[in-house]
Amino acid sequence: KGKRAFIAGVADDNGYGWAIAKSLAAAGAEILVGTWVPALNIFESSLRRGKFDESRKLQDGSLMEITKVYPLDAVFDNPEEVPEDVKTNKRYAGASNWTVQEVAESVKKDFGTIDILVHSLANGPEVSKPLSETSRKGYLAAISASSYSYVSLLKHFLPIINPDGSSISLTYIASERIIPGYGGGMSSAKAALESDTRVLAFEAGRKKKIRVNTISAGPLGSRAAKAIGFIDMMIDYSFTNAPLQKELHAEEVGNTAAFLASPLASAITGAVIYVDNGLNAMGVGV
Ligand code: NAD
Repeated sequence: KGKRAFIAGVADDNGYGWAIAKSLAAAGAEILVGTWVPALNIFESSLRRGKFDESRKLQDGSLMEITKVYPLDAVFDNPEEVPEDVKTNKRYAGASNWTVQEVAESVKKDFGTIDILVHSLANGPEVSKPLSETSRKGYLAAISASSYSYVSLLKHFLPIINPDGSSISLTYIASERIIPGYGGGMSSAKAALESDTRVLAFEAGRKKKIRVNTISAGPLGSRAAKAIGFIDMMIDYSFTNAPLQKELHAEEVGNTAAFLASPLASAITGAVIYVDNGLNAMGVGV
């Protein structure tokens, strides 16, 4: 009760970030979100115009409140790193203070501290290319947006996360099993994210008793996933082959995040938690 969460990677009501926000709000947390700068205007105007009101509804009938939306581009750590073409890009022109360091400073100025940090973002410009055809630039961009962005977020937010706080990211089984179609270095980026979860759990645990976990989520038809192109096939595959033959709801990932952020999970850190109807446990499709 009375906890405050910052969720990076919410720009519509379809993805895991939104579902996590709802589950945390239902559990009584105050919600702050970080929204990718190019998506900021549409997200904020849709919120304002009531476009998300139906999906803001919580179990008790009340609407999730988002206390503040921060513009964020998690591939830049501070203003000195922002290249001229991005600074002058008209999709960035209206927003300010959106580098990771500046967002952490703004949250500190506005609210002092947070209790829960969520990283629900990924990007791989060459995701539709097989790994063996991926350029160095594309590979490094995937790692930058999908893995280092988490290191950077935790680094900059750690000083303002209260002791006993919790940090959660989202990963995908392509890190450890072959998933053809999840290319461009995205499988590599998720492998890095999972390894970093363990090391960051050690560092944040020793420093501030903060827990660091990642949720390996099953396929969801989010905006990001649709951009990859094979999501419907993965959803069908999961439905057919997983131990639990049912649709995977974003809410089920949200609820796991709420559990991981709560005292019920006080001894869980450095873990990869599967929320995938059990598909990860299968050895063959049947
Ligand atoms: P989503 O589109 O809801 O979320 C991705 C978000 O990342 C978007 O809001 C996008 O604007 C944001 N983003 C991209 N680049 C950014 C940047 N540089 N700075 C800030 N924000 C940026 O899609 P989602 O599928 O819910 O993705 C959330 C997380 O879940 C990702 O880490 C994804 O890899 C993971 N995941 C998704 C699936 C799936 O099937 N959808 C499965 C397993 C894991």
